[in-house]
Amino acid sequence: MVSSCIVPSCKRRRRTGLSYYRFPVKDAERCKLWLRAVNNPKYDEDTAVDCLKNHRVCSLHFKPEDFERHLVWEAMGGDGVRKLRPTAVPSLNLDHGETSTCVEQVRQSRLTMLL
Ligand SMILES: [Zn+2]
Repeated sequence: MVSSCIVPSCKRRRRTGLSYYRFPVKDAERCKLWLRAVNNPKYDEDTAVDCLKNHRVCSLHFKPEDFERHLVWEAMGGDGVRKLRPTAVPSLNLDHGETSTCVEQVRQSRLTMLL
């Protein structure tokens, strides 16, 4: 069983306290979105769903709003395995051009302001 994250830039980092989420294998369209997002050269949009079953994406790649809110956990301090919304697609810490562009731009404009 593979328990590491499928995002290439993420595997090298060992972090604790993360949750791992399975590919939405029942939803082929969303699987493609996930594959595009994780941008792992070993897998592309045509990768068979069977190959994805054992792979996970860790919680570092989802925005807070990608998780379903759980009022009891939140009241207890927010710990616990959070459930992903059915529409969630990885979008954070992916280290590739498309999604990090706006972060880069923000960073650059901040730098320009400092200069
Ligand atoms: Zn990860």
